[in-house]
Amino acid sequence: MSLEELWQAVLAQVQLTISPANFTTWFKNTSIVSLKNGEAIISTPNSFVKEWLEQKYNKQIFKALRELSEEIKNIQFLIQKTETKTVKRDFFMPEISQLELPEFKTDKETNLNPKYTFENFTVGTFNELPHAAGFSVSKNPGAVYNPLFIYGGVGLGKTHLLQAIGNEIIKNFPQKKVKYVSSEKFTSEIIAAIRSGEIENLKNKYRQTDVLIVDDIQFLAGKEKTQEEFFHIFNALYDKNKQIILSSDNPPKAIPALTERLRSRFEGGMIADISLPELETRIAILKNKSQERGIELTEEILNFIAINIPRNIRELEGALNRLMACQRIQTQPLTIEIAKSLLKNLIFAPNKIINVKKIIQGVAEFYDLRDKDLLLESRKKEIVKPRQVAMYLIREDMKGSFPFIGRKFGGKDHTTAIHACQKIAREVGKNEGLTEEISLIRQRIYNA
Ligand code: ADP
Ligand code: MG
Repeated sequence: MSLEELWQAVLAQVQLTISPANFTTWFKNTSIVSLKNGEAIISTPNSFVKEWLEQKYNKQIFKALRELSEEIKNIQFLIQKTETKTVKRDFFMPEISQLELPEFKTDKETNLNPKYTFENFTVGTFNELPHAAGFSVSKNPGAVYNPLFIYGGVGLGKTHLLQAIGNEIIKNFPQKKVKYVSSEKFTSEIIAAIRSGEIENLKNKYRQTDVLIVDDIQFLAGKEKTQEEFFHIFNALYDKNKQIILSSDNPPKAIPALTERLRSRFEGGMIADISLPELETRIAILKNKSQERGIELTEEILNFIAINIPRNIRELEGALNRLMACQRIQTQPLTIEIAKSLLKNLIFAPNKIINVKKIIQGVAEFYDLRDKDLLLESRKKEIVKPRQVAMYLIREDMKGSFPFIGRKFGGKDHTTAIHACQKIAREVGKNEGLTEEISLIRQRIYNA
């Protein structure tokens, strides 16, 4: 029996004893990666699943394995980030629909995934411009903004927006040929075509599109041959008034090793950036997404997530998914305490060691003060608040005791520390400015 067959047999066993939803949640993308000296190593896709399997399913998995192979004495779990496709897909297919949003399939012709639409794209000031430009392109491809160049940080909706534009164009103009491609895929196609002498065919194929969407073009940096071929395709399409839509992590002028002529091409159209979603929008996104997924979370929980995950919409979704997975198996309502503990390691990069010094530095820098200003006795208004924020962060993020905090800040009585922490805690979530400040300070401290 191969390792794969062995694991399939274990899954078949386990499947009989737990609900389909749980089965999919906890066993999707798991596999046996090795079996040596009686020890089976089971790979899991993330720490959440790993912990859960260790704590809840260890015995059951062990028993099933043991029945299949007597040599097994021990099992270990590890995290393997790359999707292990060892588990046959259809094994899980029937359950997927009841679990997540309906699984949408990427269209083979266009490479577009219909799950990305304008309808489920939340708009706020942070993405208003690219959204409006994209929407108008979808009404009038090739005529308004060409190329449309959208840039922004990771997980902020570039791919979603690009694909939504593509899907909308197909809806409005079913006869138009739309093609979406990541620049990695584009590069490997070009390289393969050059090798096999098919480059002209490939270029012709691209030249026949009405709308060409290339995602993450920063990855073309330094790939001169690919850039050259892209330049020709770009020009051919552009001259025929075909729409070109591009995304990148940075504006064209900030992408290193982009040939000058390509850069000036990119700069010839509309450049729109997606910045960071403000707190209010993050809450709106969470509300929309939890509604889509049919889960109900309290305002307090939604606020907690939005406050603590300020920079990445993908991570907001990750937090929701995690809570959703938990809600499925729990009968009691999800409280803020449970939510906090479930999200603990999503919110602060695990293993990040923080200390009082880092917190004080982060706070001082943020408010343009010197570290020692925070520690000295002063009733100046511009110092009182930052000092309270620092105390609050030491309490919240380091679980510092009140006497400890008091001592750190100029030997103050612990009641001063209690008062400061409570004051900030009361305002967080209510006072938007302060809330945003605190999440920015945390980014500074944890991403330094
Ligand atoms: P990027 O390509 O910029 O790294 P993605 O487009 O992949 O980011 O977005 C990450 C996740 O966040 C996706 O699941 C996407 O659907 C979701 N998302 C991003 N922006 C929005 C938005 N404005 N409204 C709703 N969902 C969004
Ligand atoms: Mg993307």
